[in-house]
Amino acid sequence: MDTTTPTAGVNFIRNLIDDDLASGRQRTVVTRFPPEPNGYLHIGHAKSICLNFGLALHYSGRCHLRFDDTNPVKEEQEYIDAIKADVRWLGFDWGAHEYYASDYFERLYAFAERLIEKELAYVCDLNAEQIREYRGTLTEPGRESPYRSRSVAENLDLLRRMRAGEFADGTRVLRAKVDMTSPNLNLRDPVLYRILHATHHRTGDAWCLYPMYDFAHGQSDSLEGITHSICTLEFEAHRPLYDWLCEALEIYHPRQIEFARLNLTYTVMSKRRLLELVNERRVAGWDDPRMPTLSGMRRRGYPAAAIRTFCERIGVGKSDSIIDMSVLEDCVREELDHTVPRAMGVLRPLKVVITNYPEGEGEQFTVPNHPKDSSLGTRSLPFGRELYIERDDFMEDPPGKYFRLAPGREVRLRYAYLIRCDEVVKDPASGEVVELRCSYDPATGGGATPDGRKVKGIIHWVAAANAVPAAVHLYDRLFSVANPTADKTGDYRDLLNPASLEILGEALLEPMLAAAAPGSCFQFERLGYFCVDPESVSGQPCFNRTVTLRDSWAKVAGVES
Ligand code: ATP
Ligand code: MG
Repeated sequence: MDTTTPTAGVNFIRNLIDDDLASGRQRTVVTRFPPEPNGYLHIGHAKSICLNFGLALHYSGRCHLRFDDTNPVKEEQEYIDAIKADVRWLGFDWGAHEYYASDYFERLYAFAERLIEKELAYVCDLNAEQIREYRGTLTEPGRESPYRSRSVAENLDLLRRMRAGEFADGTRVLRAKVDMTSPNLNLRDPVLYRILHATHHRTGDAWCLYPMYDFAHGQSDSLEGITHSICTLEFEAHRPLYDWLCEALEIYHPRQIEFARLNLTYTVMSKRRLLELVNERRVAGWDDPRMPTLSGMRRRGYPAAAIRTFCERIGVGKSDSIIDMSVLEDCVREELDHTVPRAMGVLRPLKVVITNYPEGEGEQFTVPNHPKDSSLGTRSLPFGRELYIERDDFMEDPPGKYFRLAPGREVRLRYAYLIRCDEVVKDPASGEVVELRCSYDPATGGGATPDGRKVKGIIHWVAAANAVPAAVHLYDRLFSVANPTADKTGDYRDLLNPASLEILGEALLEPMLAAAAPGSCFQFERLGYFCVDPESVSGQPCFNRTVTLRDSWAKVAGVES
């Protein structure tokens, strides 16, 4: 499949800006991040945020947060709030520069009248289907609308009456008068305004006439003095219109620059599809930890710094590509490896009784919170006669190269003693192993091996007496195939990974995890990185698996990379 090796650095946009500054075309850098508040932000938006805010920081300029709220039907305050929280969480600050396209409705409308006065726009009574028909195709020129030659006075009168609410939705539009024979379909008299009797989440019922993206976006850029309007490649063919409108209106003319959008394997990135997954309850919500949304990733335990590193690593280019999810997961592992404390947790417990350990007694081992960073300190780990180990760290009849516990075998309990399995207790009815009876070597405490004997297996454990019961959610990739939307004839929803969430209800954790703060993250030794779910309650925590310790998909899929 088409995957791209991430290359750091070469950012062609920086070169273009350097030229603009060197030539004196611009004296400062003002960028903007312009989300439409019709969904939550995803990792693709993070690429755009890091780029736009990153450029502003680099050039000591500024970056605006502008809500492109021109479609009242799909937009909501909930999305605005979530977008602001996500941008802040990612680590960026727009200061006082929070704007809304809807704040410009009056000025945009004045631009529309100005275009009419310059005979560069007209009111057209063709319906949507007729407009499409008249537009022509890539191989056929379009035909001029019969309404194209209306007088300035008639156009002004009609536009004002459109604004006043005299006409029904879809009966008339305002179009730019450009060129119906242009090879660029976007220049064949594009629609600038449509009638829409809908309540807007900010302007209420003040308007029933709403600007189209192409008209609102560029003119908002201009009004805000944006120097570099950076957007994704699909807008390349819109640039001639962007330029035409600024020239026609004789207003400040920002420079539009396009870059390749981010695509990631094993997920989908269109807001329409993400909304479908939410509405159809295929996930728990926008912030479900399997979603590619920033709120989902935050809940999953991805640090903002890892996402910024990822955006830097994949770079900014001009050709569309699809980045492997493992690149993002590697950034998460790298960040967590050096920042989070280690802990002991057993996900699928198997009881172990140390038969020669005195009953009713216990001890504490002092263990490091991080193997390489002593500044993270130490903690006490209680040990006692009854313990739990991971079910798959024992095999009754182990194959070769299995170095964990088996009848008659010896393993190291991490930070504690060597134990030997003497007896396997089974449920007489089911035959299931329910308990191991082991003996320990008192001379081997705290990791010591006085006689230098070699024991290959080291396993994790928790003491039964103080173990904290917890729910653990094991998250995996949302889709089972790398590119779920590649097959246009199929339904991407059929490709959801049925094993993307496994809920374990019987995990047992070391005592200090009982009080772990919501959102805090740990490496459970040998298992992966886990974070406390934000809705978790103290004393009976719920942990989300952020990422495994290694990329297990590389092994399973084999051919993907
Ligand atoms: P939709 O899915 O509805 O087409 P969108 O993804 O374009 O919407 P917007 O809210 O319009 O969402 O996006 C805001 C900004 O984020 C735009 O400048 C857009 O270019 C950028 N952006 C969106 N998706 C990606 C992506 N996958 N990679 C990089 N930038 C993106
Ligand atoms: Mg968009």
